[in-house]
Amino acid sequence: MTVRAGIVVTGTEVLTGRVQDRNGPWLADRLLELGIELAHITLCGDRPEDIEAQLRFLAAEGVDLIITSGGLGPTADDMTVAVVARFCARELVLDAELEDKIAGILRRLSSARGRTVDFEAVLAANRKQALVPAGAVVLDPVGTAPGVVVPGEPLVVVLPGPPRELQPMWRTAVQTPEVQHAIAGRTHYEQSTVRMFGLPESELAETLRDAQTTVAGFERLEITTCLRRGELEIVTRYEPAAQPVYAALLDLLRARHGDAVFSTDGALIDDQVAALLTGRTIATAESCTAGLIAARLADEPGCSAYLLGSVVSYANSAKTELLGVDSALIAEHGAVSAPVAEAMAAGALARFGADTAVAVTGIAGPGGGTEDKPVGTVCFCVRTSDGRSITRTTRLPGGRADVRERSTTVAMHLLRRLLT
Ligand code: ATP
Ligand code: MG
Repeated sequence: MTVRAGIVVTGTEVLTGRVQDRNGPWLADRLLELGIELAHITLCGDRPEDIEAQLRFLAAEGVDLIITSGGLGPTADDMTVAVVARFCARELVLDAELEDKIAGILRRLSSARGRTVDFEAVLAANRKQALVPAGAVVLDPVGTAPGVVVPGEPLVVVLPGPPRELQPMWRTAVQTPEVQHAIAGRTHYEQSTVRMFGLPESELAETLRDAQTTVAGFERLEITTCLRRGELEIVTRYEPAAQPVYAALLDLLRARHGDAVFSTDGALIDDQVAALLTGRTIATAESCTAGLIAARLADEPGCSAYLLGSVVSYANSAKTELLGVDSALIAEHGAVSAPVAEAMAAGALARFGADTAVAVTGIAGPGGGTEDKPVGTVCFCVRTSDGRSITRTTRLPGGRADVRERSTTVAMHLLRRLLT
């Protein structure tokens, strides 16, 4: 049996894009872990009619579970609980115990801030937060706003907007018998991820088309592919009994595109490179990526053991003075050239006393290109102090941000190749 869910993200600041939605994606991951199928994430502002329209839509779609985010504060524009109560045809009732709890939290907060406020006025404003739909399960506040679980078909879980409040409260909500009941009896799904690099999406599409006829039971796999940071990500969902079908698909991908497949266990390239750098030291020399390769390396736990530093060198003089690149070499080949990338990598090894270096010099544009070196021309060199190295020149598509991001991905893959 499939249990389906919908998420309603509310908040005018999220609708307008001033705040980027973090709750929808986070809840989507949690639902996936639980084997619940997410049908929709909808987004609307704070207006009650709009919130109600989303609830109507999802209920009409037949979802078993609706989760809302936002609009639980004490102010008049926070209306979600009232809207959900009306939608579920339940009266709002004052929960006296909850009111005391909120008062206690507010008292502690105001004394911690050392402010003297009109406490009675604060309490009056917060009485609103102690109004809950009759028969609902109250989720204790993480901040000051309580959430609620309203039983029914669909079951509605109402959560606060701030992610640091929503996340712990969702974990509490899932434990309630009401939510457990609503999601019981669902089918368990496996999910596996294959990551590829250096393969055009069209070639993968062709292989997947062929798989329809060559892999028996292919229709039992639910496959989604996406292109991210220049990598192909293939996520497959299947019932445990279809494991052999998935294994056959994996065999096919490896047979056809073995060079491109770099991960079948979900590991990201950054994790793989971090593991390969264990016991080593690395420095980066970066022109068009402005230190972003170092930033990716620095995002890994334990990076301080191997990441020594980075020289960001845009000007030719910086390449010469900080990385020891011969100015004659730059004059002869141009700053964006394979020989200069190699010299930058050598410079980074020497400057930091590292045993591994990665260097990038390229044209991220706009306006920086020439006929033989258009925008997107990027030269890479990875090298180790014992003399191994790989040099590569690529032409990457897109604008400045795309070229930068793709360049960091190429650099990570070259490091992986050098170190395996
Ligand atoms: P509060 O008591 O803080 O008002 P609330 O439940 O009413 O809580 P909202 O008013 O909807 O929540 O949002 C409060 C703040 O939480 C927003 O201004 C925003 O900074 C953050 N927030 C809300 N929704 C999201 C979201 N979907 N993604 C990321 N941040 C969010
Ligand atoms: Mg609010």
